[in-house]
Amino acid sequence: MDKSVLQLRVFEERDDEIVEGLLTCTECKRLYPITKGIPVLLPDELRDKKMEQEFFNRWRDRLDA
Ligand SMILES: [Zn+2]
Repeated sequence: MDKSVLQLRVFEERDDEIVEGLLTCTECKRLYPITKGIPVLLPDELRDKKMEQEFFNRWRDRLDA
């Protein structure tokens, strides 16, 4: 949202497309999930907290790495 550089981590790929991954803002360290091939770049009030919780639970092992 602040137009800073986003760092990409890929958790799952299919046919050269990112299915599941994570974008991290290098400036504010904010995390943006990529799920089902779609980056979730929404302001807080529009974010699906339940979906994001499931996402972070699913990839918790990779996040800690
Ligand atoms: Zn940022």
